[in-house]
Amino acid sequence: MSETLILSGKDVADSIYNNLNRRISKLIDIGVRPGLCVILIGDDPASQIYVRTKTKKLNSLGLLSDTVLLKNNINEKKVIKVISELNTDPRYHGILVQLPLPEHINSQNIINSIKPEKDVDGFHPENVGWLSIGKPRFIPCTPKGIMKILEHYNIDLNRKNVVVIGRSNIVGRPISILTSLNREWANATCTVCHSRTKNLDFYTKNADVVISAIGIPNFLKGDMLKKGSIVIDVGINRVNVDNHKGYKIVGDADWDAIYEKVASATPVPGGVGPMTIAMLVENTIEAAEKFG
Ligand code: NDP
Repeated sequence: MSETLILSGKDVADSIYNNLNRRISKLIDIGVRPGLCVILIGDDPASQIYVRTKTKKLNSLGLLSDTVLLKNNINEKKVIKVISELNTDPRYHGILVQLPLPEHINSQNIINSIKPEKDVDGFHPENVGWLSIGKPRFIPCTPKGIMKILEHYNIDLNRKNVVVIGRSNIVGRPISILTSLNREWANATCTVCHSRTKNLDFYTKNADVVISAIGIPNFLKGDMLKKGSIVIDVGINRVNVDNHKGYKIVGDADWDAIYEKVASATPVPGGVGPMTIAMLVENTIEAAEKFG
């Protein structure tokens, strides 16, 4: 009988919402309703689902959550104009641009145009800089959620070898910074691997914790891992199956293959995903508390 511990991001998120409810009530008592505005460009079905899920959650907690829908062929200048209006709109404490953007738009230019104090995704270079020097303002939601899962399950990274697979600005890079900060729950020795890494197995086999954020289903196998290690599976991959939807969502890890090998792991769905939304709510509240 395996004793693998399932790190349920859903359970952690639920306990976080209890605490956030108190913070929301406090703000509403003083006349501040935390507000988020999401900009969605184009009609990518996955992005539409993500935005709907976020909006539904924020609304259910009593936050203001609006979406600005922009046509796929809008030009960069016009998007920046919309953002500059939102930057000065007092109803919104947070602004989020749903990624990825259509190819003709430079994502970095768009992110740079968000007022850093409203950048609840934590992607603006100013906020990335604050995080890099160990004084985070807004921590990107997915990495922040991963740290909260580890903390909730008493997994202290101090002196551990952490291997992050993936180096995107959204997940891989910021989680590598967070895990190696000189801070409680961090202090790990972190190695960042990516598509050009030679002998990836060499790193993963020596890791106490593997954080996979690549977006390839069933990529991480049991024989790539050390016995008793911990896997944080960030991947969200749609694979075709014969069910009523025609697909299911899986992570980067081959769950059946890793299950017997690891001490604990986050499932997909129900692992990192719910925490990403919880952290977006938390960052929006934080923005309202600090700058509202
Ligand atoms: P990106 O595509 O931006 O980055 C993927 C990274 O994986 C890149 O750094 C790439 O390397 C690396 N990579 C690709 N193939 C390999 C390989 N064979 N071996 C090693 N590294 C590889 O993706 P994101 O970071 O945006 O997202 C990653 C996954 O996480 C996706 O499935 C996404 O859907 C999911 N996600 C989940 C969230 C959640 O809430 N659970 C939130 C955000 C993302 P290189 O840089 O060399 O190209």
